Amino acid sequence: TLPADCPPDVERLGNSTWTLLHTIAATYPEKPTGMQKDDLRGFMATFSRLYPCWVCAEDFQDYMKKDKLKVEGRKEFGNWLCEAHNEVNRKLGKKEFDCSKWEERWRTGWKDGRCD
Ligand code: FAD
Repeated sequence: TLPADCPPDVERLGNSTWTLLHTIAATYPEKPTGMQKDDLRGFMATFSRLYPCWVCAEDFQDYMKKDKLKVEGRKEFGNWLCEAHNEVNRKLGKKEFDCSKWEERWRTGWKDGRCD
């Protein structure tokens, strides 16, 4: 990876972007209003077109066509996003993430106190 003061490569851009996306999931309401659901749908649709790694964006748009975005609540969106990230992990030959643990990783902190 390049030093932090150089333009980001695909890895650093991806790592930072997943941090933003999973953190949006972590702070998304359990019971969102109609407007919050619309915001998330709009954000994800725009994101999937603007993401500045064009091959990544194209594949992500295809993924969103076959596995429809879930905006009904935090758990639904968080799990959907975890599955989407796992699809990319598989494509890149990375380890799959256990989606039963996404809230520990991104919202509550690990049960063993690692983030305290
Ligand atoms: P990352 O995959 O960036 O993950 C960051 C952290 O998230 C991990 O350390 C882990 O703690 C946690 N995590 C891992 N998996 C999950 C999961 N399923 N759910 C929740 N948390 C998880 N790169 C390419 O080379 N080609 C592509 O086509 C491509 N497409 C991408 C599409 C999108 C939408 C995004 C956001 C990124 C894409 N990337 C792509 C970048 C790639 O996914 C990684 O971000 C990059 O390779 C850096 O990987 P990393 O090892 O730092 O971990």
